[in-house]
Amino acid sequence: MILVLLGPPGSGKGTQAKRLINKHKWPQLSTGDMLRAAISNGTKLGLEAKSYMDKGNLVPDSVVVGLIAERIKESDCKDGFILDGFPRTISQAESMDNMLQVQSRRVDKAILFEVPDNELVRRLSGRRTCPKCGSMFHVESAPPQKANICDNCGTELIQRDDDNPTTIEKRLEVYHRQTAPVANYYGKQSKLKVLDATLEPNKVTAALEESLK
Ligand code: AMP
Repeated sequence: MILVLLGPPGSGKGTQAKRLINKHKWPQLSTGDMLRAAISNGTKLGLEAKSYMDKGNLVPDSVVVGLIAERIKESDCKDGFILDGFPRTISQAESMDNMLQVQSRRVDKAILFEVPDNELVRRLSGRRTCPKCGSMFHVESAPPQKANICDNCGTELIQRDDDNPTTIEKRLEVYHRQTAPVANYYGKQSKLKVLDATLEPNKVTAALEESLK
């Protein structure tokens, strides 16, 4: 299964992707995580990407397409994978189709996580992330058991640099202008399923599993 998870930042794609990995063992390919890893490793690519990410803009298509092209060649991707945060432009979606065609493969399904902007702002501004294992918390609606410490691995939680009010607003504007049309791209191929991602996480997981049948 090659699955695309689409949706605005804060819609729960990353959380749901992790649940799918636990059950189905498909790897989660998150371009955001790949870029953040490049930044913390201090690579040239990371340095270039950071200037875009800090402003809430998209990193150039060529950079993320290159990352994904390399990643899908790895052996753990041979039975399928989950794309989380990629493609984010029509051009990325087309590049993905071309890359897969060369391997005689294709995207099987795209799932759109729908959440209104005011709820996204609430979620993103209270979000706290574990820099080690990627677990996510919310200061009000899903706080860790011990303040600011990851329940999973005991690491101190951080607030992502781009989870601040100005950058959140920009990311949502970029989402509506550049990424929302990607849903239509998969809709035209009859691969799109839309989920109400305002529901509590277990209900979203159930709806997601249902749409994979
Ligand atoms: P995310 O963790 O998916 O919210 O991504 C964080 C930031 O990384 C985004 O705001 C973009 O600046 C950048 N990014 C992640 N994925 C992509 C992508 N597919 N295309 C362009 N930029 C991306």
